[in-house]
Amino acid sequence: MSESIEKVKCLIIGSGPAGYTAAIYASRANMFPVLYQGEEPGGQLTTTNDVENFPGYPDGITGPEMMIELRKQAERFGTDVRDGWITKVDFSGDIHKVWVQDTKEIHCESVIISTGASAMYLGLPSEQKYLKLGGGVSACAVCDGFFYRNQEVVIVGAGDSACEEAHYLSKLCKKVTMLVRRDEFRASQIMQARVKNTKNIEIIYNTNTQEVLGDGQVVTGVKAKNNITGEVIEIPATGFFVAIGHKPNTDIFKDYLDLDPTGYIINVPGTSKTNVDGVFVSGDAADNVYRQAVTAAGTGCMAALDAERYLASIDSSFEVNTATNY
Ligand code: NDP
Repeated sequence: MSESIEKVKCLIIGSGPAGYTAAIYASRANMFPVLYQGEEPGGQLTTTNDVENFPGYPDGITGPEMMIELRKQAERFGTDVRDGWITKVDFSGDIHKVWVQDTKEIHCESVIISTGASAMYLGLPSEQKYLKLGGGVSACAVCDGFFYRNQEVVIVGAGDSACEEAHYLSKLCKKVTMLVRRDEFRASQIMQARVKNTKNIEIIYNTNTQEVLGDGQVVTGVKAKNNITGEVIEIPATGFFVAIGHKPNTDIFKDYLDLDPTGYIINVPGTSKTNVDGVFVSGDAADNVYRQAVTAAGTGCMAALDAERYLASIDSSFEVNTATNY
């Protein structure tokens, strides 16, 4: 007997600001969206304490609260928000096939990818402890730098992101110490020059972070070791920023979609379209430049509008989400 396969007009993969914004627009346009939340419901913002730079929240809002509000708004217009994550796709035909946790198969007329990217961390237990406590570990200077005004912070990394974030922090903080694990930067010359020429940025080369120090609640410093001399130093700091790269959550799409060398989905410039008709991308899965909640939300809106036009152009026949036997 053939297995029951669900037919979905618009499937949204991912539940950060991009996915939920796409869902709000898609449900209001009668596209009957189904949204799978993914392995980390709410996305990267759920690891952020206060969000103060999203327009419309004059007093700020916590990341998890914001995700609850976005979910409620999407559900209010009929989005079917589901637990579970997509583990496999087949975008080779006109109907796009996806599998939820390798078992449930869904056929979609349109797919909006909002799977985001994950910040990479060092993986030290002390780093993870203060990250989870919201006590001073962050992977986003633009999001969290403001909380460290006139304080001393440490940033680890030596790429363009680390330089950009260190420079951003230097305008807010009293002092920024940059830990570089080799004797040189990976960043472009212009970005290196920017940090090297900033008075309140101290660069310490050949140095690895050993431990994020704290009082059990908040970060108080960083212990680091020179990997040539073996010297161990302790740097007082209230914030520890990690800028060692991001990994876009796009592995399952690599056989079908054009990705850049670092795994970000390549969209048609100025649109959310990918190289596959009916498959759209929004948020950090295609953005290694801005990576903000508000830019993700903006591209989520674009993806829903592009998908709506696409469904009109193919004369969509999936009226509502239905299970059918093929
Ligand atoms: P990158 O991969 O370029 O750099 C990561 C950095 O983190 C490297 O310097 C690496 O060190 C360091 N690192 C990795 N793991 C560790 C670790 N365990 N301990 C200490 N250091 C570590 O990532 P970025 O996010 O900086 O940049 C990604 C892409 O985005 C790049 O192509 C970049 O050019 C681009 N970008 C461009 C910007 C701009 O032009 N304005 C701004 C931001 C990003 P090592 O060098 O020793 O390997």
